[in-house]
Amino acid sequence: MDSAQFRERGQEMVEYICRYLEELPERRVVPSVEPGYLKHLIPKEAPEKGEPWEDIMADVETKIMPGVTHWQHPRFHAYFPSGNSYPSILGDMLSDAIGCIGFSWAASPACTELETIVLDWLGKAIGLPVDFLAFAEGSKGGGVIQTSASECVLVCMLAARAQAIKRLKLQEPGAEEGVLLGRLMAYCSKEAHSCVEKAAMISFVKLRILEPDQRCCLRGPTLRQAMEEDEAAGLVPFFVSTTLGTTSCCSFDNLMEIGPVCRRFPSVWLHVDGAYAGNSFICPELKPLLDGVQYADSFNTNPNKWLLTSFDCSCLWVRDRLRLTSALVVDPLYLQHGYSESTIDYRHWGVPLSRRFRALKLWFVMRTYGIDGLRQYIRHHIKLAKSFEARVLKDPRFEVCNEVKLGLVCFRLRGTDQLNMKLLSSINASGRLHMVPATVVDKYIIRFCVTAQNAKEEDVEHAWQVITEVASSLLGEMNG
Ligand code: PLP
Repeated sequence: MDSAQFRERGQEMVEYICRYLEELPERRVVPSVEPGYLKHLIPKEAPEKGEPWEDIMADVETKIMPGVTHWQHPRFHAYFPSGNSYPSILGDMLSDAIGCIGFSWAASPACTELETIVLDWLGKAIGLPVDFLAFAEGSKGGGVIQTSASECVLVCMLAARAQAIKRLKLQEPGAEEGVLLGRLMAYCSKEAHSCVEKAAMISFVKLRILEPDQRCCLRGPTLRQAMEEDEAAGLVPFFVSTTLGTTSCCSFDNLMEIGPVCRRFPSVWLHVDGAYAGNSFICPELKPLLDGVQYADSFNTNPNKWLLTSFDCSCLWVRDRLRLTSALVVDPLYLQHGYSESTIDYRHWGVPLSRRFRALKLWFVMRTYGIDGLRQYIRHHIKLAKSFEARVLKDPRFEVCNEVKLGLVCFRLRGTDQLNMKLLSSINASGRLHMVPATVVDKYIIRFCVTAQNAKEEDVEHAWQVITEVASSLLGEMNG
């Protein structure tokens, strides 16, 4: 394809994208295909000779789209939002065209510098302590864009592990590192995302999963008791992962209690995962939810969830960047450059060497909407969640199962878990709405999340209509 053809096809693609997004409501939100559907439609071998573009695009509509779950659909209320907006798509287009691999400052200075600046912008906007900002006076911290929140948690755990082993080696110089590793203990709540468990598996450390309180909140005394017990048993607490806005029910761990507990244990790394909720702290009225972050060593949030930015864009800030990078530095000659001492080389901040120019899309989004526009977007989603909550509360057949602080409402029919499983599976099978379940305080609940970029009151109205229609028919069947 040459540039003349790209111009033409590019314009067609922009048109296709606009139509796709505008006409989403006409599609089923979830596909009705069976596993393996695509292998019957696509040849087993790649074509020997290039094919016409028209044929490829025709196959997109007839073969690919029938198997797509439409995350941008106004009837998609599952998981958390998958951020999207035209400025973000344009940012990714430009990033793909520039095609740089920004592993070091020298590998593409703008790629590195824009990332540092934009992370300072966002860090300030959500109210992180100045120590987390790269350009604050005397700061040792800074931010980085990772591929996912899972990666943010993993790299922090790896850094904490390296710190802990280093400290133990000083106390016991003759000890084998493998033996010391066996003594390390990480902590999180039962409500933490499964990525913490995965990080512990990869890091080969023990993880103690603690019981939260009835509000699904991890409390300081629970953590303190666990850490003291472990220390008395000869183990070494080294990492605590907390969550602001848990996946199941958007609950918040009590950082104001947990922070001081961590301070009692030398060199415990306190991480705060705000993958979804963290974005909302750009609203001043929500900043109290961030209270206690002053105790944290690291914090992550995903603009690719709830800040109009498309995947991937997961932001991590650390209070001390040397503590992070010292666990991850390898420095072959071919990657070194003349400014290594005075610049940031993001290859030391994560697992992959190669990195896309992801800051571009975040920069485009922040400039196009402004902080004010982003606040309005968040507030609008919360307003819609509250509107959905009000409908649930008005219907005595249902109950609300979480404190609705942001865009997620957990609800269920009063009755058995089986009844609610039936309700959800019937709704999802209808293709009219998509939601997923979770367990909250040992009960099966249904999660309704406001996710669409341009979500409207009428979408909430529609969702509630579908839910009550299916529920009435289920309850009618049971009683009849
Ligand atoms: N942490 C929380 C609180 C989440 O809700 C999620 C995913 O929804 C994750 C971590 C994992 O995110 P990622 O897919 O970016 O790894």
